[in-house]
Formats: sequence, C-alpha cells, structure tokens
Amino acid sequence: MDAAAHDASPVLIVGAGPTGLAAAMSLARAHIPVRLIDKAMQPAPYSRAIGIQARTLELPEQHRLVEPLLALGHRARIANLFSNGMRLVRLDFDPLHTRYPYLLFLDQSVTERLLTEHLTTLGVTIERGVELTLFSQGASSVQATLRHADGHLETMRPSYMTPRMARTA
Ligand SMILES: Cc1cc2nc3c(=O)[nH]c(=O)nc-3n(C[C@H](O)[C@H](O)[C@H](O)COP(=O)(O)OP(=O)(O)OC[C@H]3O[C@@H](n4cnc5c(N)ncnc54)[C@H](O)[C@@H]3O)c2cc1C
Repeated sequence: MDAAAHDASPVLIVGAGPTGLAAAMSLARAHIPVRLIDKAMQPAPYSRAIGIQARTLELPEQHRLVEPLLALGHRARIANLFSNGMRLVRLDFDPLHTRYPYLLFLDQSVTERLLTEHLTTLGVTIERGVELTLFSQGASSVQATLRHADGHLETMRPSYMTPRMARTA
C-alpha cells in the first residue's frame, strides 16, 4: 500500500447510490481513503433501475462482482417495446460484441445491496444520516460542511469531492 495514500485527506463521495458506491469501490481498491456519506438513514427500499446494460456489467468485473449480479438477475436477450398494443421496437442484444449480450433484469435495490456488501469487505462503511449542506472550492482545496443526523455540523477538507445537491458558499 502506498504510504502517501494513508496520509491523504479522504475523497468525499456524496451519495450512496450506484454512482457513489461504484466510485467508492474503485478508490478503496486503489487504497485511496474515502468517506461515503448519504443523507438517507436507510437505503431506498424501492427500485428505479430494473435493467443493467452490457457496458455497465463490464465495470464490476474488475471487482469480481459480476457473478453475484448475474446469479440474481434475469437475462433478456430480446426486448420488445409496446404502446397501445402495437410493437414500437424490437431490441436484439445477441449481436453485441460483449461477454454480456443481454439486458440483465435486477432491482436497483439489490444491485446497491451487493455493492454495499462488497464495499464493506474493502473497509468502507456508508455514513448514513450525513448530508452535505455547503461546500466551497478554493484554488487548492475544497471545504465541505456536513450535517449529521443529530444536527451537529462538521467541517472537513477532502482531497476531492463528488458534490451533489448542496449549496456552494
Ligand atoms: C423510473 C426510472 C427508471 C430507471 N430505470 C433504469 C434502468 O432500467 N437501468 C438503468 O441503468 N438506470 C435506470 N434509471 C436510472 C438510475 O436509477 C440512475 O441512473 C441511478 O439511480 C443514478 O445513481 P446515482 O448514484 O447517480 O444517484 P441516486 O441513485 O439518485 O443516488 C443519490 C444518493 O445521494 C443521496 N444524496 C443526495 N443529496 C445528498 C446530499 N446533499 N448529502 C448526502 N447525500 C445526498 C441520496 O439520498 C441518494 O441516496 C432509472 C431511473 C428512473 C427514475
């Protein structure tokens, strides 16, 4: 492990949706310290995304996480989109040049659970009930204000930050 990585300020990742979870996995795997916060106290029990496309499936390969996704999902090699009883389009994924020539149906909540469990094995725990409320960016640093569930405010200077829905100072 790079000693400099130990001393560095963490990267602040705001939001533990699929984007934040994936970013945290990649950074943690490279031994870059991260803090992953989410203002929600619990993961969302419902799902927006239900289908994972081929390119997205190629990304968790490097984390050896694709097999658990494949095991729980359902593969659709062809999709037909209908409106008012009429077929609008037929999507055939079979000719795609990929190891995953299909759309994998898997609830977003399940995808997030698998990513979260994997992150735990990398030593990263989601800090829930923590909201980015304000940030400012100087020439060489970022200052972020976090509001914890009990109302107390924390100011930190992450090395980098993925901002989301907060005010700039
Ligand atoms: C109806 C619908 C269907 C969809 N279907 C598909 C599909 O089939 N396939 C597909 O690939 N995609 C689909 N999508 C898109 C997919 O859901 C999004 O691309 C995905 O959720 C984006 O992930 P994210 O991590 O960027 O953001 P989100 O999932 O929105 O997560 C953001 C997180 O950030 C947290 N947060 C926000 N602001 C702050 C703050 N200030 N401080 C701390 N935490 C904060 C939130 O609590 C949340 O947990 C669909 C979307 C919708 C709406």
